[in-house]
Amino acid sequence: MNIIVCIKQVPDTTDIRWTENNTIQREGVESIINPYDVYALETALDIKKRCENVKITVITMGPLQAEEILRKAIALGCDDAALISDKKFAGADTYATSKTIAGVIKNKLGSFDLIICGQFATDGDTAQTGPGIAYNLDIPQVTYVKNIEKCENENSLIVKREIEDGIETVEVKLPALLCVLKQDKEPSRAKINGIIKAQNADIKIYTLEDTGLSSEETGLKGSPTYVSKAFRPESKRGECRMAESVDEICTKLIEYGLKK
Ligand code: FAD
Repeated sequence: MNIIVCIKQVPDTTDIRWTENNTIQREGVESIINPYDVYALETALDIKKRCENVKITVITMGPLQAEEILRKAIALGCDDAALISDKKFAGADTYATSKTIAGVIKNKLGSFDLIICGQFATDGDTAQTGPGIAYNLDIPQVTYVKNIEKCENENSLIVKREIEDGIETVEVKLPALLCVLKQDKEPSRAKINGIIKAQNADIKIYTLEDTGLSSEETGLKGSPTYVSKAFRPESKRGECRMAESVDEICTKLIEYGLKK
């Protein structure tokens, strides 16, 4: 089974700042693998443990420094990595990003059985990229995936997905794309032979000509959306005060009509 895992480099901070173009300021901020994508990697590695002949290719679209997260993914057990990077991709919205990633998968990465994405990126947080890739490759998708129940059949997967009022079990035909949620288990740590493999790995770089797209279809030019305003919402939390006694809490509950 050939699995492609899409990972994104995101700023390692909760103190998000914006540039004057209303895009996220990435310079001078340490970057990490998007936390949901760590679980996308875990899902692929778990399939590799359970099934034979599994190859995992990890990909990211971003600046050249995003190579760092690809090496981390190889250290964790991925077999191959590809960086989709070109100055012409700058300013891409989710529409252009998913088209560009799908273009490289279609034209350069060969046949695949499964693509795994995180459910959200912690910076952009649109959850549109995974479904956009599936749309552009014309394959089925399952979102909000919590875990894979069965992967032993070559033609389909059985997965559990979280819905508002419960858990749904879905069988999906391959090739397909999954967007995965955080899982309950601790993510794996790199082992020493993985770290050595990562240091020596040859990371392929794909540019505009590998996407099958024109420069009008990617980057800012190929992006129909723009960020008109970015702001931190005002906190609506009321003032907080420690109660001095249980009696005081009871008096307040009666006052608010929450206790007789
Ligand atoms: P989500 O859709 O929430 O991510 C879901 C999953 O998709 C992730 O967990 C991951 O598995 C996969 N994924 C998402 N992005 C990538 C990726 N890049 N590579 C591999 N897998 C991925 N961002 C910039 O970095 N530089 C810019 O100049 C820039 N300009 C923008 C301009 C505009 C007008 C807009 C609207 C956005 C711009 N962005 C820019 C943001 C960029 O479009 C998004 O970061 C990107 O498309 C992913 O969307 P998201 O963060 O909402 O990810």
